[in-house]
Amino acid sequence: MTFRLLTILAMAACGAALAQGPAMPPLLGFSPAASVEHRRVESQFMSTVSSDAISNIHRRVTRTPHVAGSTASMEVAEEIRRALADAGLETEVHEYHVLLSTPRSVSVAITSPRQQVLPVTEPAMAQDPDSAHPELGPGYVAYSASAKVASPVVYVNYGLPPDYARVQAAGVDVKGKIVIARYGRSHRAVKIHTAQQAGAAGIVIYSDPADDGFARGLTWPEGPWRAESQLQRGNGKYSWFWHGDPLSPGSAATRDARVLDPASAPTLPRIPAVVLSWKAASEILTRLEGPPVPAGFQGGLPFTYRLGGGRLTVSLNVQMDTSRRPIRNVIGRIRGRDLDRWVMLGTHHDAWTFGGMDPGGGLSTVFEVARGLSALKKTGWMPERTLVFAFWDAEEFGLVGSTEYAEAFAQELREKAVVYINTDLYMRGRFDGGGTPSLRDFLVQVARDVPAPSGTGSVYDGWRADEWRKVPAERKRAGDAGFEVELAALGSGADFVAFQDHLGLPTLQMEFDFEGSYGTYHSNYDTRWYVERFSDPGFAVGRTLAQVLGLSVMRLAAAQALPFRYSHYGRKIGEFLDSASTWNYDEEGRGVVKLNLLSPRRLAAVFTNNANALERQIDAALTSGTLTPTAAKSLNDGLVRLEQALLDETEPAQERWYRHVIYGWNIYSLYEGQPLPGLAEAIRLRDQGAVDREVARIETALTRLLKAVEGLSAGAAK
Ligand SMILES: [Zn+2]
Repeated sequence: MTFRLLTILAMAACGAALAQGPAMPPLLGFSPAASVEHRRVESQFMSTVSSDAISNIHRRVTRTPHVAGSTASMEVAEEIRRALADAGLETEVHEYHVLLSTPRSVSVAITSPRQQVLPVTEPAMAQDPDSAHPELGPGYVAYSASAKVASPVVYVNYGLPPDYARVQAAGVDVKGKIVIARYGRSHRAVKIHTAQQAGAAGIVIYSDPADDGFARGLTWPEGPWRAESQLQRGNGKYSWFWHGDPLSPGSAATRDARVLDPASAPTLPRIPAVVLSWKAASEILTRLEGPPVPAGFQGGLPFTYRLGGGRLTVSLNVQMDTSRRPIRNVIGRIRGRDLDRWVMLGTHHDAWTFGGMDPGGGLSTVFEVARGLSALKKTGWMPERTLVFAFWDAEEFGLVGSTEYAEAFAQELREKAVVYINTDLYMRGRFDGGGTPSLRDFLVQVARDVPAPSGTGSVYDGWRADEWRKVPAERKRAGDAGFEVELAALGSGADFVAFQDHLGLPTLQMEFDFEGSYGTYHSNYDTRWYVERFSDPGFAVGRTLAQVLGLSVMRLAAAQALPFRYSHYGRKIGEFLDSASTWNYDEEGRGVVKLNLLSPRRLAAVFTNNANALERQIDAALTSGTLTPTAAKSLNDGLVRLEQALLDETEPAQERWYRHVIYGWNIYSLYEGQPLPGLAEAIRLRDQGAVDREVARIETALTRLLKAVEGLSAGAAK
């Protein structure tokens, strides 16, 4: 179907609704009458969402540093459980025993030409008393190998494979050396793994001011960007093998679970890794000799960066306590009429330090949604489906709590969960929505119905304007009349991964985003003080985010027909297949492998048509009020499992934990999604056999999807 025809249909649908009276178009998945009633309840919820309430819970969960596995983290978990219970929710705590990693000692020193110990801690600052908390420790990389190494140093820019190729081309050898890489453009684990593969002895990762410091804007405490002594902690787990506990792929890490031997687990780094602030790192960088760096390697410090050579040697001594420890997920539940259909909204509760923004922002808004909807239920509102609010532990160690839960309850979730919605840190800025394309139209409608934090226009207006800004100039010339936002493909970086890539649930991730990064990320200064001054003064954005999340949950919990638009999914798959052909070109524009995507393309087109026909049937049945409860139940039971048709489950989790054929994680980006991940990798490796297998895999998945949608109808039972 053409876009024009869709627009006409959409206009016709609006016209029908307007003719019947209501000023707003009917909600996706609701009859016109049910829409009017539902919007009335929604406005009740909207008015109860309170910045003060968000601020209150935020204060309670950001008092102390509470890294996963610590007593303080258990206390935060209990604080949340108690607050949920006080708000009237049923609560559960799920404990897992997972491999965590914290430092016994970390030291970095220049050993030649003269001895100089470099700071690995962050100084206390008078402006923010939290920064003097006695429990704050050094910066470190969780899961770093424990080792002591000393050697000359090579600067490798962002530490990605093309950077190493250029270092090698300049005649500099990294084998046996300590490499120094700057943060940015990929997860830190990719930098560690790339260094390990290149034969480096160890790696120093630092925050360059060009990426999140003074080159971006005013620095802490004057502005939000990273100051000279602020460093970034984080995990170094090789999560592209599987997410969650590094030792238990595909099954829950219960207390007596059988787990892999850490000595051979592919998820754990084999070289030591440390993190430094730019001030500490500049002591190394200024002393590097050898050739000046190639274009694109120069960072923001005021001297010429060099690749390495000369007399400089550095020693790293990292001793980690990497051991299995308990973590606790907290779940709050609001019962609907149907206890066996769940709408899930999740975030995490563990933090590297105080978690002012990460995750204090997201956590507090999710809690506010739970509080508001529980209060609404007391006034008589009864959701059709059950609402599940999840507060995961050990997200910072690589989505550990959410993944163990997803693995523990895999069967139940695949049967009962209608959707998984996630949020995490946010910062005042533009709304950003990611997720599976079946939920694009749904989220657009929600975002249109929530006023922007500024009070001017809707959340959608800001989102669309921002997406339009990113459109290539060529496309811009055609004008923005037909322009619609797309949900960003979800890769990694937050707790949606197990639900999307391992279980095949429809998924959404929502946030407000400033400029992709911020200065206190994973540092001692990610505190309430920072939130009050920079990320969300007055929690105005938190209030808006809670409204968007709340309306999403309410609509998904109450819709007569689940508001998925699989026709859009089909079109997106078609687009991905089209772009796959372009991945296949070398520099001269020749195809590097034989790639025949005719059959998957045809399947995607047929699926799109069938999904379209089904959606017209659903909308007609809703408009005319002829969708019977029996037909709706059978329709919804089918719709909710369509996404799962896209999983490839032919191999055990240890071999293939990322089972989604259409979506995956592009590890050579920060956290971006990679459409058709298996095919993309096979083409990148120029492996014809793998390409053929991946095309067959896509074809099989699309055949399953097509078959699944063919059985669905909005009419009487078949
Ligand atoms: Zn987070």
